[in-house]
Amino acid sequence: MPRRKSKPAESAESTRASASVDDVAARAEVLREQIAYHQQRYHRDDAPEIEDAEYDALVRELEALEREHPELAVAGSPTQAVGAAPSELFAPVVHATRMFSLDNAMSPDDLRTWEERIVRALGRAPAAYTCELKIDGLAIALTYEDGALVLGATRGDGTTGEDVTQNLRAIAAVPQRLRTPPGGTLPKLLEVRGEVYMPLAAFDALNRRQREAELRPFANPRNAAAGSVRQKDPAITASRELGIWIYQLGRVEGGPALASHWDTLAYLDALGFGLNPASARVDDLAGALAYVEAAQQQRAHRAYQTDGVVVKVDALDDQRELGFTAKAPRWAIAFKFPPEEQVTRLLKIEINIGRTGAATPFAVLEPVFVGGATVGMATLHNADEVARKDVRIGDHVIVRRAGDVIPEVVGPVPSRRDGSEQVWQMPAVCPSCGSAIERSGSEKVARCTGGFGCRGRVKEYLFHFASRGAMDIEGLGYRTVEQLLDAGLVRTPGDIFFLTPEVLRTLEGFGETSANNLAAAIERARARPLAQVLVALGIRHVGSSGARVLAQRYLELDAVLRADEAELAAVPGVGPVMAASVRAWADDPDNVALVRRLREGGVVARDPEPQGGRSDRLAGVTLVLTGTLARQSREQAEAAVLARQGKVASSVSKKTTAVVVGESPGSKLAKAEALGVPCIDEDTFEQLLEHGVSVLSR
Ligand code: NAD
Repeated sequence: MPRRKSKPAESAESTRASASVDDVAARAEVLREQIAYHQQRYHRDDAPEIEDAEYDALVRELEALEREHPELAVAGSPTQAVGAAPSELFAPVVHATRMFSLDNAMSPDDLRTWEERIVRALGRAPAAYTCELKIDGLAIALTYEDGALVLGATRGDGTTGEDVTQNLRAIAAVPQRLRTPPGGTLPKLLEVRGEVYMPLAAFDALNRRQREAELRPFANPRNAAAGSVRQKDPAITASRELGIWIYQLGRVEGGPALASHWDTLAYLDALGFGLNPASARVDDLAGALAYVEAAQQQRAHRAYQTDGVVVKVDALDDQRELGFTAKAPRWAIAFKFPPEEQVTRLLKIEINIGRTGAATPFAVLEPVFVGGATVGMATLHNADEVARKDVRIGDHVIVRRAGDVIPEVVGPVPSRRDGSEQVWQMPAVCPSCGSAIERSGSEKVARCTGGFGCRGRVKEYLFHFASRGAMDIEGLGYRTVEQLLDAGLVRTPGDIFFLTPEVLRTLEGFGETSANNLAAAIERARARPLAQVLVALGIRHVGSSGARVLAQRYLELDAVLRADEAELAAVPGVGPVMAASVRAWADDPDNVALVRRLREGGVVARDPEPQGGRSDRLAGVTLVLTGTLARQSREQAEAAVLARQGKVASSVSKKTTAVVVGESPGSKLAKAEALGVPCIDEDTFEQLLEHGVSVLSR
């Protein structure tokens, strides 16, 4: 099949309104060809060329045409087909019972329509539904004889799949042997269906390795999972980190009598299969809708990709009565989440100057609805990324927006180029101040060299300086920062502390109260703890935890800025990169002047001595805290350790000296026990602070 440009689907309505029957037939034919082609690319080659949403739109358009013109619904139409024919690379496996696809619901109304159909068929609503996450991976079937895995197959076209037994054996999460269920026996024959998936962290790591080896990265975790299973070489499958969740019983001989899908899941669990822990049984459709809502909210926080929720009628008798259409069960439906990726046009690439002067390219897009919001701009990270992804002005690009994450351009759709696209380069001068943009040495990021003379940079710097976690100056947002810059009242963050209520009142929109409020917020900011001042200064590589470590070690800003690089690098939790950055920042004459101005403006930047004083009693000691301590907060405990030159780590490893266990500890406790790391309670922790590590050997 030749490479084909996929035309964006016109809406079914517009097609119908204006087209003759011949036109409609021709359009249906084009759609069928396109759909069949993309099915092959997706299911057989694991290399889709278009986004799922775009593909789904083609299918929906064809379905609408076939509904309107039943005479056009030819046998073998892709609207009636499951997946794609199996590849010749593998031996064929004829499934004992067909493997199906799922019908989709895009909205709560679609789900209600589905239930209405069920009510019509059964004469009543089902007594319960099971809700499961729809895992975005590869469907497989596993067959066990007398508890031993004998066959593993892909879905293929639903009737015939591909024999991938050896590859599935290479996945640790696939049971080779089943457990005998408590009080039961192993079934003579058992066939189950499930989804092989790749966790997001494993996907990122795999793509990093692919790029390093100059191999093509995978488009998404689904393709990575499918490509890892559909391999000639099981060693490659074994090298990939894959998980599997089982969600369906295909066939069983010698199993218990089961009445519901929920009971089936419990049975599969007892046999030792991995089941997704998020599944739940609900009483009615309202419960299913609530489940969908919650699953959508948690989507961006999961360690693996989900693309929807599968709602299943729970009673197996009801399932049998409802049966199947040509391609999907009538008793189940996939509620699809709004796509997190969409294709749109990249109109131009502009650059934004950040608070440290970093010039970040971003894409100006033809607005597109993605991940639940309309997106008109998306980050391109840096010039190297633009070049690596080969994103060109005028390209169709894949835009991704997951949860609250900043939208990003994933990459271009090269098959949709027409030759007019233009390669982009980082401009030589800053669009905000006209200074040169330079890139030093091995740095990924190009920077504006305009310093405090660059309005774009100063605006971001001031906004960051006043933000929560930094100087936390309430009322000093973007708008006010812009007004202050326009009026020439502020040039650097230090100038903020010279603003009086009288001056603030001259700004448009400021009355007596708002001017007084802002002045009071500025007054409060003068006494912010050193860690917050350090965050506010925006020294590169000094995030909130680095700032905390520096503050606890030095207690005052001048001492931090006086310390030499080697001394800074030796502070636990600082290291050479942060140390070099702090030193370079402190030596920059602009920053020397800034610090002087802050001081003149009354910023204190000095913390009191910690309770119990300072010592090197815990030098070389690494502690991990878990749970809630009764007599001190997490911050106080951390500060106390750091003040004694100890280190607080966020996760347990063999290098951990001890884990301090408070009330309701988390998984760190189990990890510590598994690794044989000593666990201590709050009393022992306090003794440790007072007497040092000798306490642990008592
Ligand atoms: P589907 O993925 O929408 O639904 C069926 C599949 O869901 C099952 O086969 C099973 O593998 C899976 N699933 C996950 N969790 C499940 C659970 N808990 N219970 C039951 N099943 C579960 O349908 P499909 O036929 O596999 O493929 C259609 C999908 O593939 C669509 O999303 C479509 O956009 C995409 N697709 C994309 C392209 C492209 O070119 N981008 C081409 C073809 C298909």
